[in-house]
Amino acid sequence: MMLLTEQQEMIQKVARSIAKDYIEPRAKEVDETGEFPWDNIKIMAENGLFGVHVPEMYGGVGSDMVSHVNVVEEIAKVCGSTSVALSTQALAIAPLLIAGTEEQKKKYVTRLASGEVLGSFGITEPGAGSDVSSVKTTAVRDGNDFILNGQKLFITNAGESEIYIFVTRTSEDRTKGISLFIVEKGTPGLSFGKNEDKMGIRGSVTREVILENVRVSEENLLGAEGEGFKILMNVFNETRPVVGAQATGIAQGAFEYCLNYVKERKQFGKALHQFQMTQASLSDMAMKIESSRLLVHKAAKMLDNKDPNVIRYASMAKCFASDTAMEVTTDAVQMLGGYGYIKEYPVERMMRDAKITQIYEGTNQVQRIIIANQLINQ
Ligand SMILES: Cc1cc2nc3c(=O)[nH]c(=O)nc-3n(C[C@H](O)[C@H](O)[C@H](O)COP(=O)(O)OP(=O)(O)OC[C@H]3O[C@@H](n4cnc5c(N)ncnc54)[C@H](O)[C@@H]3O)c2cc1C
Repeated sequence: MMLLTEQQEMIQKVARSIAKDYIEPRAKEVDETGEFPWDNIKIMAENGLFGVHVPEMYGGVGSDMVSHVNVVEEIAKVCGSTSVALSTQALAIAPLLIAGTEEQKKKYVTRLASGEVLGSFGITEPGAGSDVSSVKTTAVRDGNDFILNGQKLFITNAGESEIYIFVTRTSEDRTKGISLFIVEKGTPGLSFGKNEDKMGIRGSVTREVILENVRVSEENLLGAEGEGFKILMNVFNETRPVVGAQATGIAQGAFEYCLNYVKERKQFGKALHQFQMTQASLSDMAMKIESSRLLVHKAAKMLDNKDPNVIRYASMAKCFASDTAMEVTTDAVQMLGGYGYIKEYPVERMMRDAKITQIYEGTNQVQRIIIANQLINQ
């Protein structure tokens, strides 16, 4: 475990106790009903968990990314669905902090950091997934306004969020034609599709978003016109370690449950943990989780130090931790035998929740491309 400062330790403790007292007891129900856990959002907001890394002047706690990844790990350990609300909020806050004007930060970040409202980031479209630069949603200037038209897919918290950042096209240039806009819920022409029926993180909302002649003022342009792609790449550097933390939490939760189980369960006259093959699995799981956590912390510390070499480490943290989460949760199911496959036991939910961490914020194939590019070209 990395050495934490007094403040980082205190924040981690708060997150751990909220996770244990409020979020863990509801995790099974949240997964089964698929209901958006507004009660969990409220308790996390009341305790400042949405703005741990955000400066105090913008409504945050004023700590750092290390604290933020610790909070996400603690919540993900007990409920993957609830942790997605935290990581998505960070995804919405990041472009505002990176590229927002002072006025935009005061107006939007303050409300997001306090958890008073939720935010979403709309990048993906039916034809633009891994290839972000092929987005087709347009933003056309009309006097001092822009008019937005297009369709976004798989947008987390869409419909529940009040503040949206959309990736749009303001000119034909593949990357320099991309611009970001802030749109508030209730703006005429902004509407939402049905909540997708998902494999895991079932308590998290994922919806299509439709933009039909959505008129926004040029004050809603986030960053300069044509700077959107550059901002987006910087956003991912900040948010990929957060997905890594989420994956580490899910893996840790499954591991702890599995460890207790193999101490209790007896077969062939012995507790399962006495078999060497079980011991080897436990060791492998623990080594991979610890390595994931170290990578996540390394990337978080690099972000805190504004280290420009963070790109490859952000991708490594996300990729390694999410591959680990998938492996560890699958192994946990295996080590519980038939019981692992039954919904009464949480490792089944954790295995389903782990899968998305290999897919969103850039699939793990995309992360490997980024890491290789960095290794070869830097
Ligand atoms: C639950 C959920 C929540 C999400 N939340 C959001 C959100 O809040 N905001 C948002 O904008 N998006 C969100 N997404 C979208 C998500 O980020 C994309 O699904 C993801 O980036 C992959 O895009 P795609 O689904 O179009 O897959 P594709 O890009 O079509 O990829 C399909 C497969 O091809 C592989 N592939 C693609 N290109 C290459 C290549 N060059 N080399 C090797 N393999 C390649 C991919 O790795 C993948 O395995 C969410 C998705 C889900 C499922």
